Parts: sequence; structure tokens; C-alpha cells
Amino acid sequence: MKMLAFWRRAGKDRFVEGPLGRFDVSNAGTIASIEQLAAMRPGYLRTLGAAFSVESLSDRLVPVQLEDQTVAIFSQAAYVGSDQADELVRRILSAGHKLATPERYVLARSLLLALVRGQVTAESLGGLPRHSLASSRPALAAAFQDLVEWGVRHGASDIHLNVHLAEPNSEVNYTISGRYVAPECFRGMPTSTLLDMLSVAWMDIRGGNGSVFDPMREQQGSLTLHIDGKPLLLRWSSMAADVGPSVCLRLLSRSMRACSSDLDSLGYMHDQLAQIRRAMISESGAVIFSGTVGSGKSTSLAALVSGLPSHRKVITLEDPVEYLIPGAIQNTLVRNLDTCSHDVFAAKLRSLRRSAMSDVLLGEIRDIETGRAFMDLVGSGVNVYSTVHAPSAAMIPVRLSSGFIAVPADFLATPGVLRLLVFQVLLPRLCDECALPVLGSEARLVAGDEGVRGITWQAWLELVRQLYGRSLCKVRIRNPEGCQACRQDGLSDLYGYRGRTVAAEIIEPALSWSPQRSAMESAVLKALDGQVDLRDVESRFHAFETEKMMRVARKRAAGGAS
Ligand SMILES: [Zn+2]
Repeated sequence: MKMLAFWRRAGKDRFVEGPLGRFDVSNAGTIASIEQLAAMRPGYLRTLGAAFSVESLSDRLVPVQLEDQTVAIFSQAAYVGSDQADELVRRILSAGHKLATPERYVLARSLLLALVRGQVTAESLGGLPRHSLASSRPALAAAFQDLVEWGVRHGASDIHLNVHLAEPNSEVNYTISGRYVAPECFRGMPTSTLLDMLSVAWMDIRGGNGSVFDPMREQQGSLTLHIDGKPLLLRWSSMAADVGPSVCLRLLSRSMRACSSDLDSLGYMHDQLAQIRRAMISESGAVIFSGTVGSGKSTSLAALVSGLPSHRKVITLEDPVEYLIPGAIQNTLVRNLDTCSHDVFAAKLRSLRRSAMSDVLLGEIRDIETGRAFMDLVGSGVNVYSTVHAPSAAMIPVRLSSGFIAVPADFLATPGVLRLLVFQVLLPRLCDECALPVLGSEARLVAGDEGVRGITWQAWLELVRQLYGRSLCKVRIRNPEGCQACRQDGLSDLYGYRGRTVAAEIIEPALSWSPQRSAMESAVLKALDGQVDLRDVESRFHAFETEKMMRVARKRAAGGAS
């Protein structure tokens, strides 16, 4: 009703007289994506909702001006043939404008809203000759380079650019030593600058879905920057969140970081290193690392493969190549959501079979296609090294035989197919210079922790002592003030930490299907040795109170079964 009143009131006297006839909806154009909008010719220039005083309709239809000065109507599908659209055409003509061909386009509501709200503009669509983004492109590219450089200098693994479309400022965060931190120097980043920066950065994306950065859509791709003369690969992954796009950039150094001696320095315990080395001597079968994102599994894999003797021919199939491995023939296989690259993968695999190699690093087994490649290679007697997302070593075969990957369980159970299964996490390592002995630090800790936990600090320590039956004399905790050695500018969240260390569990299926020691037990041993903070062990696995209850429950279940 309100709408009718509006149409009667506004410019009734200026309507073109005479019937125009009904608009044939099949003549309407369709703009299904932001790329199609960017690609339309003549190009999109601006909305004219305000000029025609029809802002109140703008979530359904809006008049827009194109580059050749003609006017079109962008509309939701349901309104493209509506009376309102017909009236709007009359008003466009009566105001002396020329109608575009086609005169009406159907757009998705989200895209229509993005245009009306100014979140997508001719500038942000890029490619137009005279827009401001082109003139400021070098400045925006330099600002983006600064963000990435800062991350590299501080050892970040990821950069998170969280755009809040409705706020003047947006967030820049980094993952450093496994922690999500917001440095002081990038607080208050203007939202418009960040959006423009992302549009400019996306222009250099390879293998991405979409020719332009689209805040309304999930996008993936990768780009290479040079930092201090060294190539750095960034893997781009964006999420269209409710408040705006959230872009996560994973920093993948392409320098020779992985070498044989690295396996020792990653943090495996002596017996675990011996186990890995022993498994490497035997030939055929698969070594598979698992863990969550950022658990260092790719690093471990590269270190392992780097240590293979030079008389073995090593080929890698990665998406993308994360580390340069001396002596290996590395292949990047970028597979994305939009382009059909199955043929490329199949062709690679065919030539791989004729390559007479002994060892293959298969970056990740994550779908039916890589699952088949895994079976094919292992079945032909090649040594395979790979990663998979799984929450424990025992879950690796479960994950591989799930519907997503579909490697038959009886194939996996065949002796010799699975040689070694590793699950790992990365924990922040305490700074050796300033970590505090836990005994004697009670007063300092009570204020910070007891209120939240509902257990006294002393009771908590006693619980750890009981659960693991060890002395706490070597246990140390993080010094939140840090020292010269571990302070990073503006990152008080990381004071007291230096680097990270692996806590792992390993299954050798030839011996047993359960690990000698769980990853949590490995982490606790490291804490008892003063290398990591006990509280970080809890936050990565579960609380010691939970551990106690789990043990009671297990005991009860075992008692009930017998
Ligand atoms: Zn320190």
C-alpha cells in the first residue's frame, strides 16, 4: 500500500502518456555474479536511485547509469516485469534518458544490495579506465606489501583481513606461534582502504575463482610476492561472513627451509625420531601425517622427504609446492573450485606412472581423486608420503576410508600399505631466558587463573602430579612480561614464548594399532621438562580435570566389560 501511495505521489504528472505494453521478461539480461557485472559492456557506472527518488524500492529494483550514459534497471527476478519496473521505465524516458539494451537486468538480491549500499562500485569492479583505484594502485599494492612484510618479519603463518562493511574501520590480525594476535600498528585500518587493497591484491592471483575480488563470495587462489628478494607464496582463502569478507592469507615461504637435519629440530622425542628413522629404512607403503591446519604437518613431511638418500628418485605432487626440496622433482597442482582441472591431474598421474620413481610426496589426500592416486601409487609399490586431516593417528585410516576419500578399508588393512601414521600439534615453546619455575610462582598465577577455573592453583598442580606421577620441579610457566630475547614489538600476547615445538603420537601398524604415547602425553612430558606451559597443553587438548574424568570413565567401562 505504501508503495502505491508513493507511486501516485511521485511524478504522476511526468509519466509518459500512452501504453508501453507489457515488458517481456524473457528479454531481460541476467547478471549472476560480480564478474559478469564487471564484464558487462557498456560498463556499469552508478546507481540512480537517489536521482529518481526511488531509494525505498532499492532492495527490489534500482535504475543504473551505464558508461554510454544509457539507463537500465537492475532488479530482483520477481520484480523485473512488475508495475513498479514499468513505471520506472516511463520515468526514465520522461526525464530525457535513453534506455539501455536490454533495458532490464535480473540480479541476485545480495548483489543488488551490495550495489545500492555502495559496497560494490565501478571503482571496485576494476578495469575501468578512469577510476581512482587505477591511480592509487601502486600505493595500495605497497600497503599490502607492508602488511605481508610485517608478517614475515614476525614469523607469522597467516594474515587475517577481517572487513566490517558497516564499520569505518576493519581488523588486521596475524597468526604468530599459533596465536591469533592484532598488532598495534595496524589498528584502525579504514574499511574502504582495506577493501581497495584486497581488490588490488586479487589482480595478481593465479588459479583463483573469479577475475575480480568479490566480497560476497568465497574465493581461493594464490599469489607470489617478493620479500627481501625472496619469493613468498600466499594462499588466499576468503569467507563471505555476515559483517563482510574475511580473507585469510597463508604465508608459504619458498626458501630452502626444509633439510634433513630439520626433523631433529621440530620437537619429536628421541624414541619417536628413532621410530620414524626405522620406518624410513623399509621400502614401499605410506607414511601419513595428520593434524589440524597449522600443525606443521607439511613442514614435517618436507623435512622427512629432504632426508631421503640421493639414490632414490623423488617426485612431488603438491597444491601448491610449500617447500623447495633439494633433489626432488616438484610439481604444483593448483586445483580450484571453478575450473575443471581433473584432466590435468589425470595426465600428471599417467606420466608419473612412467617416471620410474621410488618415492612420491602427495601433498594432501583430501578427496576421491587424491584417494585414487594414493591407492594407485601405493598399490604399485611406490613409497608414498602424504598428509590428511584427522584428529588422531588412529583416525587416519578411518578418514581415508570415509566417503570423502573412499579408499577401501581392506586395502588400508593390507600389511605394508600403511607404514607409519603420525598425528601432531604445534605448541608454543617457552622462552629459555625468562620462563618462571612453577613452584614458587603460585602467588603470581592465582590472580590470573583461579577465578576462571574454579580450582586453586595448588589443587591443579597436585592433580597434574597425581595424573602423571612425576615431580614438578622442572615445570616452568610463561613469563607474561617477557625479556629482551622474546619480546616482539606490540605483541604482548607472545611475550615469554620463542618458537614452537611438535607434540606427536605415532602408530606403526606393523607393531600395533595404538600409539605408545598419545600426543597429549608427549605434550605433558614436554611441560614436565620445562619446554612448554602446562596451560597451553590444556588449551590444545583438554583440561586435566577432564583427563581425570576420562580415566575414571575408561576404568568403569573396562570394569563393566569384564
Ligand atoms: Zn624471554
